[in-house]
Amino acid sequence: MLEVEALSAGYGHVAVLHRISLRVEQGQSVCLIGANGAGKTTLLRCIAGLLRPSGGRILVEGNDIAGRPASTRLDFGVTLVPEGRRVFAPMTVRENLEMGAFRRLWPRRDRQVGADMDAVFDMFPRLGERQGQPAGLLSGGEQQMLAIGRALMSRPRLLLLDEPSMGLAPRVVQDIFATIRKLNQQGISILLGEQNANMALQSAARGYVIAEGEIVREAESTMLARDPIVRTAYLGL
Ligand code: ATP
Repeated sequence: MLEVEALSAGYGHVAVLHRISLRVEQGQSVCLIGANGAGKTTLLRCIAGLLRPSGGRILVEGNDIAGRPASTRLDFGVTLVPEGRRVFAPMTVRENLEMGAFRRLWPRRDRQVGADMDAVFDMFPRLGERQGQPAGLLSGGEQQMLAIGRALMSRPRLLLLDEPSMGLAPRVVQDIFATIRKLNQQGISILLGEQNANMALQSAARGYVIAEGEIVREAESTMLARDPIVRTAYLGL
């Protein structure tokens, strides 16, 4: 599904990612764990087209999308759930979901959009109850659900999630990860950037550890969870 090859990126003259390579197979769930500032967001932003890499390739189903603008990502089925959720606070829950389907509503209305919105409300009943309320009034967990729901409205084949657990209570984090597992079971490939290594390794089949812009470990999640370095540095054991 996704193949990142020797990707380098940074901000101005500051190099952040150094020849990163990783893969997400079709239908697989993969996590990217790393400390604050390791480069997870920078990598996800490159894949989402929000940051232009300085080198390397990003292949989605064999097409190199590295140099193409963010707007083209929908054509390749790639959608980002950004760090900090970034919901449109003054707009209602329903309007936020419609924004996720923007390309399917304009210039021609895709008749499946209504059914997809109902599916989001089935998955997150709280959003259905609050569909007429401004998104800014939702709790942090509800906003995260809305950010995921908004992404689903574009019918992604590869969902990129940046720190979905950030700032949420442990029970809410459990719910969010259960949702991510469910989406993967429905066939959506997942790449999940997380500081919460414990939850990430429990929910993804495979994991990469990123430190100072380099991949320092990669393995099946069960293997990574047993790795002494991962246990001390990322799992606090
Ligand atoms: P976090 O958990 O904080 O999101 P992260 O692993 O996602 O961490 P990045 O946000 O990718 O890390 O940051 C990687 C490095 O890039 C850090 O050293 C950070 O200070 C730097 N950086 C991030 N955004 C910018 C920016 N807009 N301009 C300059 N440097 C930046």
